[in-house]
Amino acid sequence: MRLVIAQMKHETNTFSPVPTDLARFTRGRATPLEGEEIRAAFRGTGTGIGAFIALAEQAGAQMLLPVAGSAAPSGPVHSAAYEYMAQRIVDAVAQGCDAVLLDLHGAMVTERHEDGEGELLARIRRIAPQVPIGVALDMHANFFPAMGAHATAIAGYQTYPHVDMYETGLRAGRPVLALLGGKAAPAMAWGWRPMLPHVMRQSSLDAPNREIQARARAMEQQGALSATFFVGFPHADIPYAGVSAVVVTDGDAALAKRLSEELLDMAWREREKFVYRIEPLAASLERARRMQGGPVVLLDHYDNCASGGTMDTMMVLGGILESGMEDVCAFAIFDPQAVCKMQQAGVGARVTLPLGGRLDMPALGLRGRPREVTGTVKRIIDGLYTNEGPMARGERMDMGASAVLDTGKVEIAVISRHTEPYDLGSFRALGLEPANKRYLMLKSRVHWRAGLGPLAKAVVECAGEGVCTSDYAQLKFSRVRRPAFPLDADAAC
Ligand SMILES: [Zn+2]
Repeated sequence: MRLVIAQMKHETNTFSPVPTDLARFTRGRATPLEGEEIRAAFRGTGTGIGAFIALAEQAGAQMLLPVAGSAAPSGPVHSAAYEYMAQRIVDAVAQGCDAVLLDLHGAMVTERHEDGEGELLARIRRIAPQVPIGVALDMHANFFPAMGAHATAIAGYQTYPHVDMYETGLRAGRPVLALLGGKAAPAMAWGWRPMLPHVMRQSSLDAPNREIQARARAMEQQGALSATFFVGFPHADIPYAGVSAVVVTDGDAALAKRLSEELLDMAWREREKFVYRIEPLAASLERARRMQGGPVVLLDHYDNCASGGTMDTMMVLGGILESGMEDVCAFAIFDPQAVCKMQQAGVGARVTLPLGGRLDMPALGLRGRPREVTGTVKRIIDGLYTNEGPMARGERMDMGASAVLDTGKVEIAVISRHTEPYDLGSFRALGLEPANKRYLMLKSRVHWRAGLGPLAKAVVECAGEGVCTSDYAQLKFSRVRRPAFPLDADAAC
């Protein structure tokens, strides 16, 4: 048996000014990982492609590994980057294979294609009309009809924070291997509801998504080959942004349709609970100042790089610095130029430099605004570390050349590659111990809860500035299918 196994992951924020070239997928190399490098990098990791490799090894299959590229969320993928990765996958399929297993995200928008994944699957279908295709997706997939039409079996994460990437790979791959072995005949159905759940209300640790995901898991325990409810990614001005569901059964398309509709109906009934209420920043910081004990998480959720944020807006950190709050750790400001200046000054040096605010945000009509900060360079590192888990456990990470700037009251992590703070490994690489701090400012929305949730005494959500704004009224939607709740309060389905 011969399997093509590949990864091509990107969540595209169409409002983000952060460019998405091939280098963003390559972890500092000229091109993304390929061949044996992929097996070495992902074998035994808690990732979708890690699960595909395990399934192939268990089956004694030959593996073709044309490309593994995963980029932090950002603006539309440059055509050259997309064509490079898509072509490698299509070329591998053209060599002949029994099945294709793809670790994708499901919200990739390129300069030319609003549905990057559907386009890839369509190209594979043109040269291999019958080959089974298993696809692992993120819970934030924006599901286009072409994805359902061309894939054989799809499974998406059932957790947010995403701690089930490996299991999702198994759920996507097993139906395909069962089909090859003559043990199952996957039948898939999917659907949508006209709603954009707010990212801050999407966690599977809380209602209503907790109950919807529990029901999806129960469907699998009762015989569905996979059952997935996608919350969707709303910072994408594309027709199919928002809620969808896909269910795979063994040969029963009507049952798959019924189950997917059940998940969608649950979401629609609970749509009001997916709406987020914003607290003004000054009120949030004042509330945090009065709290006892710690660590208290100060969540800078408008500027999460894992949703396409520039990770360099200074509004929340500025408010913290002005408030006089002490014993704060801030992770992180993306600013390669500031890191460079700190490298030149050296550890122990006292520096005053402009920090953050490098990128304008034209989609919001905002200019980047650096802030002058004075502090001591406490640490400088190369930025490499390994995820401690539970999210993407064991995966080798690279936040680029990084440094800690200590103002005396606030320790600021400054990094050169976009890295969301969801794993203790990123802090420890910088000599930071979050558990010992009174306040943690995190540029994140939900994923921080994977690695840091257990140590947080409280969380205060801070409305700052950025292209993953929690105020959807700041976003100009022109391509999203309308009406859509809550953009249109009277949306009906
Ligand atoms: Zn996601």
